[in-house]
Amino acid sequence: MKDVFQSNPYLFISFLFFLSFIVIFLLYTFFKKVYLANVEDGKIPKDTLILFRALKECHFGNLEEYLDILKKLAKKYPEETEIFIMAGDVVRKSNPQKALEIHRELLFRSEVSGKLRATVLKHVGKDYLELGKYTKAQNSLSESVKISDNGRSRQLLSKAYESTGDFKKAFENMKKSLKMENNLNEKILRNMAARFAAVSDNIEEKTIWLGELKSFVSPKEGAVLSLSKSVFDGKQRKAQSQLKDIIDSYPDMEVSARSVLSNANWGKEVNSEVEGKYMKIFRKNFDEAVFVCGNCSSIIKQEDPVCGNCLSVSVKKIYESPEV
Ligand SMILES: [Zn+2]
Repeated sequence: MKDVFQSNPYLFISFLFFLSFIVIFLLYTFFKKVYLANVEDGKIPKDTLILFRALKECHFGNLEEYLDILKKLAKKYPEETEIFIMAGDVVRKSNPQKALEIHRELLFRSEVSGKLRATVLKHVGKDYLELGKYTKAQNSLSESVKISDNGRSRQLLSKAYESTGDFKKAFENMKKSLKMENNLNEKILRNMAARFAAVSDNIEEKTIWLGELKSFVSPKEGAVLSLSKSVFDGKQRKAQSQLKDIIDSYPDMEVSARSVLSNANWGKEVNSEVEGKYMKIFRKNFDEAVFVCGNCSSIIKQEDPVCGNCLSVSVKKIYESPEV
């Protein structure tokens, strides 16, 4: 036989091919018998198939089907806390009260401790947020971050604080959240500061948020915010020189700058003393002037430097004034 292969190398190669074919055929038969048979019989891989279906329904957003599978799994594996967390999350969309019951019950389980407890508390917090129970959401989420601090819970906590008007804590938690998630998107904080500045009625608070906002805006927007702060602080001479500087350096901000002076009882005086394109109009129509945002055209309170609608430090325009 050796002699035959030596005299004809092609025959040897063909023999090797034949051998490989036999090996592959045997492996395939084995796989079919052991693995596929189990799938058909519903033995070991059946659960894998159920999990695959759950994943598929979840991925495609077929929530009713997804919930059905989760219910089956929960019945079969009642000790698996995560299944109940997921089921509660699906239920929250249609029935947040029921979701809260599902999640809250998990807190009584002995195995729900450490990080898992923090996770359950985060989901309880989400349910409370959905139900509009913000103080309870704050309590659950605070407890969650105390056990295991994470960006997502901090973000939810920020939302809960904002909803009860505690802007300081809302801002702090959002800042921490972004830091923890290495999120460099400063727009979130910028818009928060602008939003809080726009809705705060309290002058002291308004000033704090305008100051916070200043670190996120351009120099020309910052100049108007500084002028606004001087007005709130009652600094007439400083305001007057700031107004002059703005008109010289950023003429498109003149209307915005002059309008924020309306908040001070000496505002009219400063407006009359500083030269500029709009000086006369402000002297004449100061009290009746209506201002619109140059960015989104919505009406802005004249003393506000921030547009409450689009949150820009607006290049204001005077609405329907024949002189402009
Ligand atoms: Zn606007």
